[in-house]
Amino acid sequence: MYDCIVVGSGPSGGSASYHLAKRGRSVLLLEKESLPRHKPCSGGVSPIVQEWFDFDFSPAVSLKINKICYTWQMGDPEIIALEAKEPVWMVRRDIFDHYLVQQAQKLGVELRDRTSVLGIEWKSDRWLVKTEHDIFEAKYVIAADGAKGSMAKWLGFKERKRRMGVALEAEALHSSLDLDTIYFDFGSVQNGYIWNCPKADGYSIGAGTFIGGEKQNLKELGADYAQKYGIDITSIKQFDHPICPWDGNQPLHTQNALLTGESACMVDPFTAEGIRPSLLTGMLAGQAIDEAIAGNIDALKQYTLKVQEEWGEDMVWAKRIANIFYRIPSFGYKMGVKRPSASQRMGKILCGEMRYRDVAGAAVKRLTKGLIGMN
Ligand SMILES: Cc1cc2nc3c(=O)[nH]c(=O)nc-3n(C[C@H](O)[C@H](O)[C@H](O)COP(=O)(O)OP(=O)(O)OC[C@H]3O[C@@H](n4cnc5c(N)ncnc54)[C@H](O)[C@@H]3O)c2cc1C
Repeated sequence: MYDCIVVGSGPSGGSASYHLAKRGRSVLLLEKESLPRHKPCSGGVSPIVQEWFDFDFSPAVSLKINKICYTWQMGDPEIIALEAKEPVWMVRRDIFDHYLVQQAQKLGVELRDRTSVLGIEWKSDRWLVKTEHDIFEAKYVIAADGAKGSMAKWLGFKERKRRMGVALEAEALHSSLDLDTIYFDFGSVQNGYIWNCPKADGYSIGAGTFIGGEKQNLKELGADYAQKYGIDITSIKQFDHPICPWDGNQPLHTQNALLTGESACMVDPFTAEGIRPSLLTGMLAGQAIDEAIAGNIDALKQYTLKVQEEWGEDMVWAKRIANIFYRIPSFGYKMGVKRPSASQRMGKILCGEMRYRDVAGAAVKRLTKGLIGMN
């Protein structure tokens, strides 16, 4: 019997496995795809995540960027040089996620890829985890199976609210875009935005909606965006994938089980950042289960509270800003993006050097005041 079975080998599953193994716990990591696996994603990562690991992520980072270029319907650009200590990382998810799993394997985590979990069952003092050929047993399970996974449902949590995102991956580098810059375009996608995260060998363009607007053809809008910047769209591969944005604090624990990452709806509802909270919740889940095994009967409950404190409190603000910003984005662009101090703060939030809670109260007040002034 394992101490813990982790279902899903994305950033949350990799992080949970790593931190459990680091504490000497036995871990089985189950992944339905063959590793390294592709995840539709733009791969922008806050460098703050390095603080949570004692190995160097550099080999898995494709580029580091230190500028942000905002546009309104492809025009009216606002370029800011980030004043952050460490630039934002651009990663290829197959490489980044696999690298983390490999570090966990070095600590003894047993990986079974091409192994889909088909169901789970609690039996007196353990979880039975069913796959096509085997039934595995563990004292604890971690749901790290992402926005499309079923673990949260099997564990009895309420149905997730899913939004739609698309990822377009261009392999060619012929374009007018700089490689040291991350791009955000507002106004072309309703209730959301288009972003472009360059990589050393191409571009990852993404589009997402955050408060409705699912009927738009995001792939078409993304391709149109790419073409306007001279990216050869014949080289582009297109993927769509749901996103589970944070939608209020909720319990993340149940009988000997925890939810992490997108199965716990951790994605920032304003920026679509999901990798940082996945790595964070993976780490906190690993710590909590280690403490539970050591005899702390409140450890799982404390996990829910810790995630609320360390991520949820900021997401309350991110959601408030998103609700105002994406409803009248032209106004949000003028009041938020076109103000250099506001853009600089947003850059610091992305880099993990500032938190929404430190600045968002004033931002929401300003946006609301401006909105009232418009009526
Ligand atoms: C278009 C798009 C662009 C994005 N861009 C960014 C970005 O630039 N920066 C950022 O921070 N975030 C971004 N995100 C969000 C980010 O990709 C996710 O939040 C993140 O991948 C969640 O990590 P996770 O570990 O929870 O789940 P995932 O990375 O989705 O991993 C879940 C894993 O579980 C496996 N699995 C599922 N079911 C089973 C099963 N039954 N048995 C075994 N294995 C199973 C899956 O195969 C998968 O490997 C983007 C998302 C989208 C859709």
